[in-house]
Amino acid sequence: MEKSFDRATLEAVLTKRFFYVPSFSIYGGVAGLYDFGPIGAALQQNLINVWRQHFVVEEDMLEIEGAIITPAEVLKTSGHVEKFTDFMCKDSVTQEVFRADHLVEAVLEARLEADLTAQTANAEISAGSAKKNKATKPPVKLTEQQIAKYNEILAKIDNYNKQELADIITEHDIRNPATNNSVTPPNEFNLMFETSIGPAGNHKGYLRPETAQAQFVNFSRLLEFNNQKMPFASAMVGRSFRNEISPRSGLLRVREFNMAEVEHYVDPNDKSHKKFSEVANIKLNLLPANVQEKGSTQTVEISIGEAVSQKIIDNETLGYFLGRIYLYLVKVGIDTSRLRFRQHMSNEMAHYACDCWDAEIKNSYGWIECVGCADRSAYDLTVHSKKTKEKLCVRENLETPLVYDALVCNPNKKVFGPKFKQNAKIIQETLESLSQSELEKLKSELDTAGKINIDANNQTFEISSDLMTINLQTFKENVREYTPNVIEPSFGIGRILYSLIEHSFYLRPEAELRTVFKFNPTIAPFKVLILPLSNNDLFAPFLIDIARKLRNNGVPARVDDAASASIGRRYSRNDELGIPFAITVDFQTVSDKTITIRERDSTNQIRGSIEVILDLVADFIYGRNTWAKATETYQLVSSTSD
Ligand code: AMP
Repeated sequence: MEKSFDRATLEAVLTKRFFYVPSFSIYGGVAGLYDFGPIGAALQQNLINVWRQHFVVEEDMLEIEGAIITPAEVLKTSGHVEKFTDFMCKDSVTQEVFRADHLVEAVLEARLEADLTAQTANAEISAGSAKKNKATKPPVKLTEQQIAKYNEILAKIDNYNKQELADIITEHDIRNPATNNSVTPPNEFNLMFETSIGPAGNHKGYLRPETAQAQFVNFSRLLEFNNQKMPFASAMVGRSFRNEISPRSGLLRVREFNMAEVEHYVDPNDKSHKKFSEVANIKLNLLPANVQEKGSTQTVEISIGEAVSQKIIDNETLGYFLGRIYLYLVKVGIDTSRLRFRQHMSNEMAHYACDCWDAEIKNSYGWIECVGCADRSAYDLTVHSKKTKEKLCVRENLETPLVYDALVCNPNKKVFGPKFKQNAKIIQETLESLSQSELEKLKSELDTAGKINIDANNQTFEISSDLMTINLQTFKENVREYTPNVIEPSFGIGRILYSLIEHSFYLRPEAELRTVFKFNPTIAPFKVLILPLSNNDLFAPFLIDIARKLRNNGVPARVDDAASASIGRRYSRNDELGIPFAITVDFQTVSDKTITIRERDSTNQIRGSIEVILDLVADFIYGRNTWAKATETYQLVSSTSD
C-alpha cells in the first residue's frame, strides 16, 4: 500500500504561515471561499505569470479580459442555464446535501478500505501477531464480486447519468456515512450564481462559471485583430464562480477561483499544428476512454506523436496542447510521476465535443482534474452566431474557385406566400437551415408522395409539390466561409497550486522533521532570504545594500534580522516558506565584502563577492544556471548552522 500522506501536518503549516485560510473566518467562514496570504497569493501569481509566458507569449496568443457578470441570454445560448449542473442528493432525515457521485465514491472507497483492514487483521491473526485493531472503521469482509463491482463503478464514476447514479445508490445501499440515513434520489442542481443586473431587477445575469464565453462572443474582433489569419488563439485569465454543492476538499473544490483558458481556433478540415514536431516525442501517461469503460484505470506511457498517429488522441492540435500543458506543469514543479492524462468517456463528454482529455494530478485527495483540454468542434461559435445573427466565421479567399452542386428549395412565390401568410418566413428559414442529407430525404418524399411535412413555429405545415420544388443547383464560390473548431485548454490555477504545494512539501529528517517546501526559483514567492549572523550593527548596511540591489532588479527578497533566533532556526523558518536561497552576512563580509549563499534543499553553501553572488542568484532565478552546475565552479564552504 502507498505511504499515506500527512495532510494534517501540511495543513497546520499552511494555516500557521498564512498560505491561505478560509474567508471571513472571524465570522465563522463560508465553505468553498479562501483568502490567500502573502505566500499563497504570490505562488498563485507566479503560476499565472509562468502561464502567461508559456502560453500567451511563447504561443503568440491574443489575451483579453472580459466581464464577469454575464447576461442570462449568453449563458442560455451556450447551454449553461440548462446543463451546467451536478447531481445532488440529501440525507432523508437531516437534509444534509451531497454531490451524488462524490458520495458514492466516498462510501465505496471506505468499504474497500474496511475490507483491506479486515484482510490485514486476518493475516495478523493467522500469523499469530494480531494487535488490537486501531482502525476507526470496523473491518468489513467483501466478496470478490463486490470488490470487482466497486472498483468498476469507481473507474467509471464520471460517466454515470442521473438514473444510473440513482440505481447505484439503491442497489449498493449508499447512505450518509455520518448518520447511516438513506439519501434521496439524485437531482440536477445548477452551479451558477444568479444575480440581477441594474435597479429594475428584471435583467437576469450570472457570475461567469468559466472565462470562455467572452472570448467566443468577441471572435470576429479577435480575427480582425489577427489580420484574418488562421489558425490563432485567444486567452484569458480571471475569476470564475461555481456554487459547488458541498465543497469539502480545500482549494480543490471552491466557489470562486482563478481560471486560465485558451481558445485555439482551427480550420475543421485541417487540425495539423505547425509546431507539432516540438512535442511529438514527449511521452505521456494516458488513460484512454476504452480502458476506463472496461472498468480499469491502467495507464499507458506513449509518445504524443504515436498517440495521434494511432488516433488515441484525435488530432495534432489537441496533441500539441496536451504536450504544452505537460511542459507547463513540469516547469512549475509538478512531479510527473503523479501526472496522467485521462480521456473523457462517452457520457461524460459534452455532446458536441469530439475529444477531451483531463490532466489529472495525484495528491492526497486522489487523482484530481487540474486542466481540461477539449476539442469543442464548432459548437460555441455556431450557437452564438445563430442566436445573435452575427457572423462568427472565417472567410477565406480561394485561389481556385470551388464549384459544387447542392440541393436547394425553390418555393413558388406566387402561391407559397399567400398560402402560408405570416408563417411563410419561418417555414422558409427552417428549410434553409436543413442539411444536404435532410434535403435529400425531403426531395425523394416530395417526388414520390407529392407532399412533405415541415415542423416550424411549433406547428406542422404540409407543403405540396405545386408550392415548392427541391432541385440541384451548381454553385461557384471564390470565398470559402467556415466556422472554426475550437481546441480549449482550461486550467484551474487553485488546483495546480494545491497539488504543487503537496508535491513540494517534505520533512527534513535529519533536522527534527523541519518542514520544507521545495518550490523552484521561478515559482517561489521570495527568491532570496537575507540574514545577518547576529545583531551586530556592522551588518546592517550590508543587509540594506544587498536587499536594495536584489529588489531593484525585480528579485523579491526577505530579510530575517530577528537575530534573537539562532541562524539555524531562521534558516528553518524560512525553508517553511520555500525560499530557495539564503544569503548570510557575517564578520568576513565586513572585512572582505564576501557573502555566503545557501541552497535550501542541499543546505550547501558557496562563498563569493557580493557582486558574484548576486549575479549567480539572478542566473538561478532566470534559469540561466543551476545550483548543481554552480557547485562545479565554486567551492562549497562548510555550513555552520543547519
Ligand atoms: P471545467 O470547465 O469544469 O472543465 O473546469 C476547468 C478547470 O477548472 C478544471 O480542470 C479545474 O482545474 C478547475 N475547476 C473546476 N471547478 C473547480 C472548483 N470548484 N474549484 C477549483 N477549481 C475548479
